[in-house]
Amino acid sequence: MRELQLESVLTCPHCSHSSSELMPRNACTFFHACKECGAILSPRPGDCCVFCSYGSVSCPSMQEQRSCCSAPDRPEGSGVSA
Ligand SMILES: [Zn+2]
Repeated sequence: MRELQLESVLTCPHCSHSSSELMPRNACTFFHACKECGAILSPRPGDCCVFCSYGSVSCPSMQEQRSCCSAPDRPEGSGVSA
């Protein structure tokens, strides 16, 4: 059993504003509105959610290494740091 991190710091690519956000365990967050500049963040190609693209922590689905909605192909054992 390992603990999931459910909090991730999202950094806006437009204005570099960072905000700490709670991630839902069972859903992917496709869109996030920056509180600072109002930009709508959406996942980069290959990423399943905004947390994977812009967050300090990957989303719970990635942490558990289970596939969610549109998880990119990712070889087992790589890309996940301890
Ligand atoms: Zn912003």
